[in-house]
Amino acid sequence: MSLPSSVDVAIIGAGAAGLGAANALKNSGLSVIVLEARDRVGGRAHTIMAAADVTFDLGCGWLHSANQNSFVKIAEQLNFEIDKTLPPWRERAYGNAFPKAERDAFIQALEEFYDRAEQAAEMVRKSGRDSAANLYLEPGNRWNPMIDAISTYINGCELDQVSLLDMDAYEDTNINWRVRRGYGALVAAYGASCPLAFDCNVVLIDHSEKRVRIETSQGTLTADKVIVTVPTNLIADEAIRFHPPLPAKVDAARGLPLGLADKVVVALDEPEALPKDGNLRGATMRTEMGTYHLRPFGQPCIEGFFGGRYAQSLEDAGPGALAAASIDEIVSFLGNDFRRKLKPLAESRWAHDPFARGSYSHALPGHAGDRAVLAAPVDGRLFFAGEATSPGFFSTAHGARDSGERAAEEVLASSTKG
Ligand SMILES: Cc1cc2nc3c(=O)[nH]c(=O)nc-3n(C[C@H](O)[C@H](O)[C@H](O)COP(=O)(O)OP(=O)(O)OC[C@H]3O[C@@H](n4cnc5c(N)ncnc54)[C@H](O)[C@@H]3O)c2cc1C
Repeated sequence: MSLPSSVDVAIIGAGAAGLGAANALKNSGLSVIVLEARDRVGGRAHTIMAAADVTFDLGCGWLHSANQNSFVKIAEQLNFEIDKTLPPWRERAYGNAFPKAERDAFIQALEEFYDRAEQAAEMVRKSGRDSAANLYLEPGNRWNPMIDAISTYINGCELDQVSLLDMDAYEDTNINWRVRRGYGALVAAYGASCPLAFDCNVVLIDHSEKRVRIETSQGTLTADKVIVTVPTNLIADEAIRFHPPLPAKVDAARGLPLGLADKVVVALDEPEALPKDGNLRGATMRTEMGTYHLRPFGQPCIEGFFGGRYAQSLEDAGPGALAAASIDEIVSFLGNDFRRKLKPLAESRWAHDPFARGSYSHALPGHAGDRAVLAAPVDGRLFFAGEATSPGFFSTAHGARDSGERAAEEVLASSTKG
């Protein structure tokens, strides 16, 4: 769609949040445009065919909290098959790299950490003094580096950068399903009928006059109301600027940086040798470790997941470094014979992606309250959505979508008043 010169509502970003807002405004009678910097919908939801027989989600893959996840119903409506196979994360790891007794000891240490953190959060809420989550690791516990590795997968960063209160606010019903054709493909289908302008990079939102003026790489347009859904790092870096400036929003975005998680997929020759939907992990005693999903959906491949500073160092080492590190680690667990069976197919590089600049948001210690600050409307004309604004489902695709719907409802409520 070409860029209109004037609309009622401009939505910035065609990720799950922007599409949630656009869908919610569909029958409102308002003219709407979604301005998207990329040449595709979905943002951090992106499915590719890594090989003819390998569907791979570079971003979100799991329908977390599936029994409360609004994308489950959407998947059913759009005829996307849902796979309810349980995730292998807590299962016994395949092979000998993480023997059962060690694995049980690790899970126990992990659960004890979460219990301590939960109890501490209750106290901290009363005192109002937030702290970093790593303070609740048991000093000297041998599993601490690997508990930190789990944080890099969940939060995209190590526990020293995670707000205890924010970690506690995350809602998880522990039911995790998948979309057989890919979560990114589902989000794209959800956006297919929305009014979209691609390759449209928004650089300035001028709200100094009655109508908001939006400067983009495709020209300028005006709108009555704007819904901003871009990732926090772009607001924090002022890649998208406001006039007059909105320092409270920039500060809130800086309190909610995107951590880093990256995914890699390698082709697996002779796949029958490994279990379908299996788990592979080693008792590495390091934070710098990958976690592996063997043959997701039975496909002939292995998916690796990396997070935090380790993922950043692998991205910085250049394209191919994630796949090389995965293959080395898998071979160290399963034996040298496996090297010839593994071939790199695809990997994400979210920190280097100019329109994401990371993977998902976490609150820095002391900044759990920033989610509400970021979400708050400004002057009945600027509205904010995106995963980072979700009170409990932050860092997820369904949290992003629901936040878009919430912002659309705020637009409608303010239009009625106006
Ligand atoms: C590796 C990885 C694994 C993940 N795993 C899961 C998972 O299993 N389950 C889950 O629920 N979630 C997962 N997530 C998180 C989930 O993908 C995100 O929380 C969600 O997709 C974010 O949606 P959003 O709409 O808030 O932001 P985005 O998807 O980032 O959408 C924002 C859009 O704004 C666009 N944009 C940016 N700047 C501009 C600009 N200046 N002008 C115009 N457009 C702009 C971007 O291109 C993008 O399309 C994962 C993410 C990653 C990276």
